[in-house]
Amino acid sequence: MTDEFKSCPFCGSADVELRESITDEQITCCHCGARSGLIYLGASDAVNAANRRVLVSAWNTRAAPPARTYAEGVEDAAVDAAISAIGWTDERMIADARKIAAGVWFETYGFGGDCCLTGPQVTSFRSCLDGASAAIRLLSQGEEA
Ligand SMILES: [Zn+2]
Repeated sequence: MTDEFKSCPFCGSADVELRESITDEQITCCHCGARSGLIYLGASDAVNAANRRVLVSAWNTRAAPPARTYAEGVEDAAVDAAISAIGWTDERMIADARKIAAGVWFETYGFGGDCCLTGPQVTSFRSCLDGASAAIRLLSQGEEA
């Protein structure tokens, strides 16, 4: 497979692949499990190839992201401040903290598998994030138009 897939629109992972079975194919994010539509493998290679081109094109075609709102800007600033405050330098820890802040991962029975942060680290980060959010909201009161 030589097709280039854009990174996952949900988690940003570049670990995206075409998963094939005997009957169908689907583009899947190996990190968060997001999936494209499904194509059913037809009678001929030509039909399959044409369907695959549509599938890849659909995966790689993205709507323009909506303009950032003021609240989202405040949220981003709080996440940056929390990461700065907690003092982590490990890029994986920082990336996982950003995913937790963005709600990419939901805590059910621990984050498990892909998350490199321990429960106490998540708790510490959330505490920093709450503090940073409160401080930034306080500082930015009155600026919201
Ligand atoms: Zn993903």
